[in-house]
Amino acid sequence: MNPLLRSIPSVSQLLETPEVVELCADYSHDVVVSRLRECLDDLRNTLKTDSSIGELPSHSDIANLARKSLTQLSRSSLRPVINATGVLLHTGLGRAPMAESAVRQIQEVANGYASVEIDLESGKRSQRVEAVEQKLVELFGGERATVVNNNAGATLLTLAALASSKEVIVSRGELVEIGGSFRMPDVMSASGAIMHEVGTTNKTHLRDYDSAINEDTACLLKVHCSNYRVEGFTKSVPITELVTLGKQRGLIVVDDIGSGALFDYASLGITGEPMATESLAAGSDIVLLSGDKLLGGPQCGIIIGSEASVSKIASHPLMRALRVDKMTLAGLSATLDLYLGGKPEQEVPLLSLLHTPIEVLEHRAEVMSKAINESETKISASVESDVTYLGGGSVPTQEISTCCVVLKSASLTADQLASKLRRSEPAILPRIKNDRVHLDLRTIFAREDNMVIQLVTESHC
Ligand SMILES: *Cc1c(COP(=O)(O)O)cnc(C)c1O
Repeated sequence: MNPLLRSIPSVSQLLETPEVVELCADYSHDVVVSRLRECLDDLRNTLKTDSSIGELPSHSDIANLARKSLTQLSRSSLRPVINATGVLLHTGLGRAPMAESAVRQIQEVANGYASVEIDLESGKRSQRVEAVEQKLVELFGGERATVVNNNAGATLLTLAALASSKEVIVSRGELVEIGGSFRMPDVMSASGAIMHEVGTTNKTHLRDYDSAINEDTACLLKVHCSNYRVEGFTKSVPITELVTLGKQRGLIVVDDIGSGALFDYASLGITGEPMATESLAAGSDIVLLSGDKLLGGPQCGIIIGSEASVSKIASHPLMRALRVDKMTLAGLSATLDLYLGGKPEQEVPLLSLLHTPIEVLEHRAEVMSKAINESETKISASVESDVTYLGGGSVPTQEISTCCVVLKSASLTADQLASKLRRSEPAILPRIKNDRVHLDLRTIFAREDNMVIQLVTESHC
């Protein structure tokens, strides 16, 4: 046994070391003690396995180790990232960036009290989300709306409230998996509804739904294939036809549209996104969508539809478990105001990124590339046209035009350079394509350009 084991200091001895006293000014006493214990345990284990160690680290060495591990712990929280991937709705980067007015409203309610459940005019209790509900109905249509934590929650709650222990008819071509953890069949079984699949992967006809209806059927469900397309010999039933069938047979029709376009994005090259307004106008009982996809707001799930169905959903016990907090309500409310104001493309960041003309991106890329080439680094930059995608479980096949600054290092591989950029402050997340580092201007805000130049040129010192 290593004789040094007997000389390992105790935690209380360490607590008197000046470096540890300083540490206790920055972190709570209990946290410091538990880190010191871990450091001492590590030391003990090393000494047990490695008899060649002839000297113990000093008390201040141990204190520094503890400080290092605590600093790492604080650093591992959320950090801002410059999104140079070109993927506009990057789930790993928190999907849609929020509008400034939304951020302001969130800040206003976050560190104080807010009129969440009190109606300021009458002083009485009002429903938690009433103001937001009214805006949603104004913008999307339908009779009533409610908001939950995310679209997955909205789907779970809707099926639980409207179809528990009953059958839900859905096309085999629409059993989506989104982001690995949202799989329609799993959500269905978690809700207590019974899935009744009809049709085939590529073709489902109205008659398939029709002949599947039985006395246990509660609803007809349509799910948007957000992140894939079935192409070629295909057939799916439009929502208008499902609604007609639902009305004939007295069944509820639920349309899970996912990304929630509020206007036609065809001019931006994005086609085929179902619109909640159209689905509601066609007569869907319930439409479900995400707040942080094409709407460009905070993460939430939006449920809109008939008074009768939304009331059932809003009074279900699961509603309490899935409800949103005051910050989400504030962020969503402010985002909806931008649509009500009529110029969302100017202020909803997702839309302004999508709207930026390609010539503007090209110009910014030229400026960026020139600045990098003129700096004293071993990185050379060039400008290339490219295409990107919306991403984040939305529209996989439709290309959005973009422009990239492509970086080449004299001494680092593409992976090494990308890893350096990821570790800068703020981090830059580039796209690696054909073994080269691409900075895609489509997702970089113009206000970040100078920072990108600085971080890239510094990455090679
Ligand atoms: C994205 C999506 C979901 C899940 O939404 P989250 O906001 O990620 O919970 C569910 N259904 C469809 C059709 C989607 O596109």
